[in-house]
Amino acid sequence: MKTVSSLLDGEWLARYRRISKLNIRSSIYDVTDKCNLRCKGCFFFSSGEQHVAQEEMDVERWGAFIETEKERGVNLAILIGGEPTLHMERVGAFYDRLPTYCATNGLIKVPRDRFPDMMVGISLWGDPEIEKQLRGKDTFAISSKNYAGDDYTYYLYTITPPQLGHIEPIIKKIEDVGLKVHLQLLSNDEDVGGFTWSEEQLARVRDEMDDMLDKYPRTVISSHYYHEVLTTGRMLGRPFGWMECPSVTEPMDTREPRPKRLIRFIRWASDLKTTHRCCTSATRDCATCKDGAAHMSWVMVNKRAHMRSTQDLQNWVTVYEMFAKLYRFIPW
Ligand code: SF4
Ligand code: SF4
Repeated sequence: MKTVSSLLDGEWLARYRRISKLNIRSSIYDVTDKCNLRCKGCFFFSSGEQHVAQEEMDVERWGAFIETEKERGVNLAILIGGEPTLHMERVGAFYDRLPTYCATNGLIKVPRDRFPDMMVGISLWGDPEIEKQLRGKDTFAISSKNYAGDDYTYYLYTITPPQLGHIEPIIKKIEDVGLKVHLQLLSNDEDVGGFTWSEEQLARVRDEMDDMLDKYPRTVISSHYYHEVLTTGRMLGRPFGWMECPSVTEPMDTREPRPKRLIRFIRWASDLKTTHRCCTSATRDCATCKDGAAHMSWVMVNKRAHMRSTQDLQNWVTVYEMFAKLYRFIPW
C-alpha cells in the first residue's frame, strides 16, 4: 500500500507534515446584503441572493449565532456579502470569537487598531479600464492606498478574458504597494459580452498564470497544479461539476453518491437562518463554474486520490500550502 512516507521524502515530507496537522472547518457568512459597488458579473446580486433573507440587525444576535457556529466546530469564518466592511460591528462579532477572513472590495479600510491580524482579501477584476467597465470604478486606486504594506492583506485578482497578455503589469503594481496576490478566474454570471472563457483562452491564461508564479514567487500566492485544475476543470482525469464540488452546504447536500466534501461547511445568509446551496451563486451552471476556492478545496479534500504517485501527492501538497498561506496558517 502506498503511504505518504513511501511517496515523499526529505523536504517534501517536511512540507507535508507542516500542513497535515491543520484541521480547518470553515463556513461562509453573508455579513450584509448591501454593497457600495454593483459589479457586472457579481454572483451575489446576479442571482438575487440579496432578496432571499432579511438582514439580522441586532449585533447581539450575531454574537449568539457565532457562538453556536463555534459549537458546531467552525474554526474559520469567511465573511462575504455584499460588502462586510459596511458593518464593522458584525465583522467585530466574528473577529472577537473566531479566526476570521474578510473579503472586501477595499474601498473602506478595516481599522487595524481594532482588527490587527484579521486576514483581508481585496477583490480586483483587472486594470483600471476593465474595473471601470465592470465595477464602475478604478478600485485599485483606493484599495491600494488603504492597504499598502499591510501584512495581513492580499489581492484576490479575478482574471477576465480581456486581461490575457496584460496580467503582468497588475502583478507588478501589487508588488510595488507591498501586497500579495492570489489568482482566480471570472465566471461570467451575467453574460457580459466578451467575458466568457473559450477553451483556447483558458489554455493561454494557464500559461500566463504559471509565468507570473515563476517570475513573482514572493508576490503570487499560488500553485501550478491549482492553475491546471482551475483552467482545465479536471483533476486526475475527473471533470469538475455538481457531482464533484466540495463546497456545497452540508444540510442541503442531497447528492448520491456523496463526493468528498468540506466537513460541516455551510454558507449562511444574512438572516442567520437561511442557507445558500454553495459558496457561490445557486443559479450558476456547475459545469462552467470557475470558482477558485471550490477548485482549491476540491483538490484538498481528495488527498487519498493523489496518493497514486509522488508527483500527484506533491501537487496536492502545493495546493494545500497555497490555502494555508492565504489564511496565514503558515508564513507567506
Ligand atoms: S464588490 Fe463584491 S459584493 Fe459588491 S457588487 Fe462587486 S462583486 Fe458583488
Ligand atoms: S456553482 Fe460552483 S461552487 Fe456552486 S455547487 Fe456548482 S460547482 Fe460548486
